[in-house]
Parts: sequence; C-alpha cells; structure tokens
Amino acid sequence: MNSMRIIVSAILTSILFYSCNQFNTAENSRIIGVKIYNHQGSFNPLFREWQSIGINTAFVSEELLANKAFRKGATDKHILIFVILPIFFDEDALSQNPDLYAIKSNGERAVDDWVKFVCPSNPDFRKRKIDGILKLVRDYNPDGLSIDFIRHFVYWEMVFPNTQTVDLPNTCFDPSCVSKFQEHSGVVVPDSLIKTQQISSWILEYHRQEWTAWKCDLITGMVEEIVTKAREINPGILINAHIVPWRKDDFENGIKKIAGQDVKTISGFMDFLSPMTYSHMVKQNAGWVHSVTEDLFKQTQSSILPSIQVKEAYLTDTLSSREFEENLVSALLPPSKGVVFWSWEHLDQDPWKKEIIKNIVSK
Ligand SMILES: [Zn+2]
Repeated sequence: MNSMRIIVSAILTSILFYSCNQFNTAENSRIIGVKIYNHQGSFNPLFREWQSIGINTAFVSEELLANKAFRKGATDKHILIFVILPIFFDEDALSQNPDLYAIKSNGERAVDDWVKFVCPSNPDFRKRKIDGILKLVRDYNPDGLSIDFIRHFVYWEMVFPNTQTVDLPNTCFDPSCVSKFQEHSGVVVPDSLIKTQQISSWILEYHRQEWTAWKCDLITGMVEEIVTKAREINPGILINAHIVPWRKDDFENGIKKIAGQDVKTISGFMDFLSPMTYSHMVKQNAGWVHSVTEDLFKQTQSSILPSIQVKEAYLTDTLSSREFEENLVSALLPPSKGVVFWSWEHLDQDPWKKEIIKNIVSK
C-alpha cells in the first residue's frame, strides 16, 4: 500500500513538474530577451553568443520561427521563442485592399510615414489574422506569442514629452466603425452630420468616454480572441503584448484615449506586458524607463518586461554606451521581470554594448 502511494505521488509530482516547468521558467527567472527579425549564416554561433552574454529568450519574426534549424537550435540551447505578431499593422493587406485603412478624425487614411494602420473592427481582417496566428501555433509550436501593433493608429515613436494631446490622431472613423460604435454604445449620431470631420468632432465633444471605451473594447476583444484560441491548441503557451510606453496620465490618459490600450483588461490575458520604453527615441531618460515599468505594474500587478533600444533610431544623435547601460540598469529594477533588447541586428554591430549586457546580467 505504501509503495503504491509512493508511486502515485511520484507520478503526480512529475506531472506537476512537467506542466509547470515552462511557466516556472518565466515566473522564477528573469527574461533577458532580444528582438530579432532575420539572421544570415548558421545559428549555432549565434546561440552560443547569446548564452555567453545571458540572453535566454528570442522574440522573432514569423520568418525566423518558420526556420526549422533556428527552432531546433534554440530549443537545444533552452532559449525560449516568442513569435512577434503585428496585428493592425499589415502593409500587404493594405496594399491589396486600401479599403482596409483605418480613418482619422479628419477623414484621411491612418498613415504617418511607415506607420499605416488597418481598421480594427473589420471582421474579415480580424478572422484572417487570427487564423494565421493559429496556423503558426499549430505548425511551429512557439513557446510564446508576442502580440504587437495591438492598438489604434499613432506614431508614438515620434511623440515627444511636449506633444499636446490635441495633436495626437484619433481613429477609426470609417463608416463601418461609426455605425458599430452606435450599436455598441447606444449613442445616436445626428443625421444632420455628414462629413467624417463633423461626425468625429461631435462624438469627441459629447461622447468621448463611450468612444474611448469602444476603442479599448476593440483591442481587448482581439487580444481575448487570439489568446483564448491559441490556448485551446497549447494551454501552456506564454503570451506577451507590446504596450505603448505611456504612463496612465501621460497625454491625458492617451494610452486609452488614443492607443485604445486598456492595460488592466489586456493584462487579464497576459503572462507579460512589454512597454516599448525606447527612451532615446522619445527624448526621455533612464529614470523614465523604470517609471513606465512601475506605473504599468501598479495598474496591473503583471509581469512587466520593458523593452529598450540598443541604437539610435529616427533621431540622429548617438545613443551612447553609457546611456544604454543606464537604461539597462533602470529596466531591470524591481518590479521588472527582465528586459527585451530592440534589436539583435543593432546589438550585433556593437561589441561594447554586448559586454555591458554580459557584465550587468551576470551580476
Ligand atoms: Zn474602422
């Protein structure tokens, strides 16, 4: 009888260990991640280098995920793979069907330089996107999904601290969204308003709160659908979301009003939230990286993984090694659960910054 009990107990322990193993990896140790979009050459030297500097997680493009040698090598070296999934940023879909563009309050398409957004309420687009994600999960079984561009249109990379909220774009005001918004909220737009500019001004003037709630529901609803269906295929799959690096009160709660990211409701579906704290790009400093991390944690009690930039982008002044080091130290301060570097391609050009990571991460 006793021996039977021991055997049953051993089996239960091993089942428990097996089912929790992947999650424990994320819970108990820091994620030191890198975003990588493509790689020339063989993978083994790459993985060896990652191990030598402490990188344990890769956030990869769909193209890299599809590479069998990459997946096998990463798994052999115990490197977690998250696939980056751009949701409402989809240039191919927009070039094939320009009717999919999200529409700004002035009636123009949601385009600002390379930032082009799809209307987030289009049912066919949403279904195609989710079907594509589920196929990736079935075909390649990544450890995690890293949901990107899960928001409304805004070129936040060019939004500096002195930006006025009124200058930020508000979307999506195409006829389909305006119609669904009315069904969703019960608000009735007066028939006398014809042009998009008139309709958007009226909604933003008199029903801003309902409009913001509708925007956030579109985003959280998409998150819910992706995560629920992906977990039906792999219940243990890890989920991360890329979050616009705005604290609750920045730009008058712009994270909800403009980006439509309700971090509290989104966090209910997540293992991690990853604010894109690219401080150099948005003219902030290292202290701000921690401040965004802390703010997001206070709102959600979630595992926060700040992502930091390795090299200057958009702006021409250099992101120095010293500034990088300060950002990294700040990104790792509690309650952070790690850091994600954007990107490996940039890091690979700078051996000194790799040394900095090695020194700080191995402490
Ligand atoms: Zn729309």
